[in-house]
Amino acid sequence: MSMPPSYDDVTLNPDYHELLSGLAAVFDSGKTRDLTWRRKQMLAIEAMMAEREAEIFAALKSDLGKSAMESFTTETSYVSSDAAYNRKNLSRWTRIKRVRTPVIGQPGRSWIQPEPLGVVLVIGAWNYPLQLTLAGMSAAIAAGNCVIIKPSELAPATSAMIAKLIPKYLDPDCVKVVEGAVPETTALLNLKFDHILYTGGGNVARIVMNAAAKHLTPVTLELGGKSPCVVMPDANLEATAKRIAWGKFTNAGQTCIAPDYVLTDADTEALLIPLLARNIEEMFGYDPQKSESYGRMVNIGHFERVSALIESGHTVIGGQLDAGEKYIAPTVLTDVSLSSPIMQEEIFGPLLPFVRANNLEGAIDIIRRHEKPLSAYIFTNDKDAEKKFLEQVSSGSACVNDVMMFMAVHDLPFGGVGSSGMGAYSGQSGFETFSHMKSVMKRRWWPDVAVRYAPYTEKKLKFLRRIR
Ligand code: NAD
Repeated sequence: MSMPPSYDDVTLNPDYHELLSGLAAVFDSGKTRDLTWRRKQMLAIEAMMAEREAEIFAALKSDLGKSAMESFTTETSYVSSDAAYNRKNLSRWTRIKRVRTPVIGQPGRSWIQPEPLGVVLVIGAWNYPLQLTLAGMSAAIAAGNCVIIKPSELAPATSAMIAKLIPKYLDPDCVKVVEGAVPETTALLNLKFDHILYTGGGNVARIVMNAAAKHLTPVTLELGGKSPCVVMPDANLEATAKRIAWGKFTNAGQTCIAPDYVLTDADTEALLIPLLARNIEEMFGYDPQKSESYGRMVNIGHFERVSALIESGHTVIGGQLDAGEKYIAPTVLTDVSLSSPIMQEEIFGPLLPFVRANNLEGAIDIIRRHEKPLSAYIFTNDKDAEKKFLEQVSSGSACVNDVMMFMAVHDLPFGGVGSSGMGAYSGQSGFETFSHMKSVMKRRWWPDVAVRYAPYTEKKLKFLRRIR
């Protein structure tokens, strides 16, 4: 019988303590509070994305078979424009915000003053291995923090590339990369950070939250879930099919906000499936395995897990598998029951099951039987249906008549609700996540209204009641 792994040696590794205390000392020096320094780091991120594009694309190709275009739109360009957005808005976000001071506090002034937290740990996931580590890092730096990044070991080429490039571009006194898997992450989690951003599955999120609780460290958890996609009969089905096919099969379905399953009625399903088939062929050709635009499963374990889910329904499009290449064809399944394995977990692969819902109420009922999703989608021209869906389905984000495109809007906070996560980042919400919004009040010395001081009298009480 093999022994369970012991992480004691890693836990006690003094390097991590030193790494953290070094960063804490730099933070205390005030270096990262300087707005010019922060802007310089944002510019460095933008430069890194532009100058190292070829290397980054090669790493993403090696880890996930990502095409250059996907690597650009969902990784480098995203990280770069996010950093540029932070840079351009920094003065506005860091400005103090005055609030009204009531009579009892007069003469005085009150304001909210953002301050950085300290040292932030960013634990990334493998599916967008660059974006999910660097966008979080960028928000944390913009808010004036030092950062340790732990990229996912399941995307080893990208992890190595991040470890190589970050010290070349960003201030090495303030930003560090720790590569590694469970032992290294466990060791890091033993330390006291000022905030932890974790992206990944819910089980590890519980481990992260437990570790953070020991130090009362706040956490932002970016998790996943089954993001439903409701298609109403009145929708523009041509556009619907194109957008769903794009959202589902980008990164071979390994996207946290991908439409997980379609909810529609029998007639709409019959119309939508040939349109999906046509769009899949237009995007990836007759044989998607030969397409430069189509990705691969990250590893054989995920290949096997997703392949097994095909049995949950009747394959009407795709279904081809090649374990040697970790290839799963863009696949559409019908006759999928709610009790089938594919409906019990987030698919996180290129399988699109159709589940029957005869009307909007039926669809909402099915969605509510699952945990709150990271994203929820509806395709319809009916304003009442849209309103009902947005009011009755709780999800991290929602999109009407498209999927995933809200990611392009910097000032929409990105995050989950319930089991799809807690907290958010992106744009101003990222700045606020990694800042403490400190409440400040400043009083004048005079006049000093005596009414609040003892001895407490009836007269004073009467006066206070009047000015409330
Ligand atoms: P993963 O395996 O890359 O794990 C995420 C991170 O957790 C890695 O850095 C890994 O080293 C670390 N980790 C793994 N086991 C650990 C342990 N026992 N202790 C401490 N750290 C540990 O990613 P995953 O979990 O396979 O990610 C897939 C999930 O992430 C899906 O559910 C997906 O929806 C979700 N996701 C969410 C978002 C989002 O922004 N909300 C983005 C991408 C992925």
